[in-house]
Amino acid sequence: MNNQQKNTLKGSLLQTFGFDNFRPGQEQTITQLLNGQSSLSIFPTGSGKSLCYQLTALHLPHLTLVVSPLLALMKDQLSFLASKGIKAASIDSTLKGNEAQTVMAGVRDGDIKVLMVSVERFKNERFRQFIESVPVSMLVVDEAHCISEWGHNFRPDYLKLPSYCQALKISLVLLLTATATRKVKQDMAAKFAIRDEHIVQTGFYRQNLDLSVLPVAESHKNGQLEQVIKAQQGPGIVYVTLQHTAEKVAQYLTQQGINACAYHAGFDSDTRSQIQQDFMAGKIQVIVATIAFGMGIDKSDIRFVIHYDLPKSIENYSQEIGRAGRDGRPSQCFTLANLDGLNTVENFVYGDTPEYAGIEMLLNTIKDEVVTNSYDSKWELQILQLSNAVNIKQLPLKTLLVQLELAGVIEPQYAYFADFKIKLLKPKDEIINSFNDQRKDFLQRIFNATDFKKIWGSLNFDTLLQDKSIERNRVIAALEYLAEQQLIVLETKGMTEVFKVNANELADPSLCSSLSNYFKDNEEKEIKRIATLVRFFQLDTCLTVNLARYFDDPYFDGNVNTNHNAVPQCGHCSVCRGQVAVLEHSQTQIPWPSDEALKQGMTELADRLAGKINQPLSLESYCRFFAGMTVPLFGRNKVRQLSGFGLCEQQRYQAIREKLASLNN
Ligand SMILES: [Zn+2]
Repeated sequence: MNNQQKNTLKGSLLQTFGFDNFRPGQEQTITQLLNGQSSLSIFPTGSGKSLCYQLTALHLPHLTLVVSPLLALMKDQLSFLASKGIKAASIDSTLKGNEAQTVMAGVRDGDIKVLMVSVERFKNERFRQFIESVPVSMLVVDEAHCISEWGHNFRPDYLKLPSYCQALKISLVLLLTATATRKVKQDMAAKFAIRDEHIVQTGFYRQNLDLSVLPVAESHKNGQLEQVIKAQQGPGIVYVTLQHTAEKVAQYLTQQGINACAYHAGFDSDTRSQIQQDFMAGKIQVIVATIAFGMGIDKSDIRFVIHYDLPKSIENYSQEIGRAGRDGRPSQCFTLANLDGLNTVENFVYGDTPEYAGIEMLLNTIKDEVVTNSYDSKWELQILQLSNAVNIKQLPLKTLLVQLELAGVIEPQYAYFADFKIKLLKPKDEIINSFNDQRKDFLQRIFNATDFKKIWGSLNFDTLLQDKSIERNRVIAALEYLAEQQLIVLETKGMTEVFKVNANELADPSLCSSLSNYFKDNEEKEIKRIATLVRFFQLDTCLTVNLARYFDDPYFDGNVNTNHNAVPQCGHCSVCRGQVAVLEHSQTQIPWPSDEALKQGMTELADRLAGKINQPLSLESYCRFFAGMTVPLFGRNKVRQLSGFGLCEQQRYQAIREKLASLNN
């Protein structure tokens, strides 16, 4: 890139975004992209990751397609882009009526330069048809660590992005993330063939963040929290694990005269955005929140972040404390720590591991389907129904399906909507008569196959497609066109995925155990991750330095950039101040319920589920029941109402497993 081009970039930085200078890493990333080099950029939260694609998009000929994991993040970036006069839009579940058509028309016209979608959108046949028909210059994957099985927040559908990218013939990719260990970094780069020299990483050492670990018994936590907050000035966030803790803690703080408010995903969206606005405007000093809070919050003067419970992982910890002191002024980060909440964090992990029996049931379901449809080896599913049928939660079920794909057992063919609903905005005849004869006939057939009620009509594809001359794709294209012309409103539901099944692979006798082992390995990996977290807070060497090493920060050890004078001792953490934390359980022995109570609980559960499943209840099911964890089978049968539910929630999952195994002997 020559000087003139560099000046052009600086020019659009100033004109469009109003900044004089690039922040570290931005210019390198943008230059690489404009040279056609796919890149991976790892910048800390709040240091201008998004600008890398936003500015690049202005200099690319066609659309920039951004995949983002969270609606809140999308909406936030959209309003930022709008404020800079850049035409951008999203296609998401909140769009109503014909809004999606308006967006699609805008993209087709080249009016919209940036389009944001969730990864799930690619499964949508209407979206696939559309995006295949427009040229795309660049694919951006935000929060790209979701693609790595080694990272936190792994999202199985992200594994399919490389193949979407190939199918859509997009040759330029930008991966963005705030946190990545070395393993995750290499994994991400490999999946999109990004070369080592195109990985852009800025150090995330933050001199203004003071880290403290405060060991405290559970019973003293509220008092300690109050004391800590009263010693602070300015706005702050208190992070908790559970929704009801958020409410209880906020209530306690309010009673102590602190201006605090709870925030969690259980509130409706109006309430949540009101709380956010009040916090941004300084009307609320302290937000007590679950991790649902913070994504997309751009408040630069947050003076303190307190972890009331242990964070979920070091990655989460780093992201959450990263919200403090964006303005560069000194800010405090406290972790109130003991080992009491550990089982809650661990239970989240155990709750997500599918049982062997569930995996077996899934494989048998596929086998039955293939036998029934012996003429072709197709298998169709709707995720919610399948989740209930095999008693595996939706997220692990999706992971399982991706694993089956990667093992070559199933191949995704296409996805379709089982239900198409049509609302006419003009009289039927008027719509039909506005087309030429050939089209008239086609539309007439579609409407004939539609069962019109008062307002909505449902299209019966089976009837329509009996005529072999009619193709499903053409029908959808016609309906999309009518919707785009504001002649009808089109609503689709019942996403059905269709897979081709490879009978040979499916017959592999070791398949079930290898899948089960995959989940067991992941479970172990996650439990280890928690252990690493607990170790981290008890380290006797500088916390800041250890945090940077964990994320493979090049500014430590490697002397890549001497501008950052990060030294083995930060001088602004509790360990550097000579306070090494030792974390403890408040009670060394949590009493067990009597054997009788446990046996009664087991009977209760067995009775409630009698006839609901076609095999005896597994040890794992009983464990989950006593640990108070929900699985689809429990939710459907209102197992929560039983007195044994959650009876052992204070115990660690492994201990419950051992206890129940001993009862059975
Ligand atoms: Zn230190």
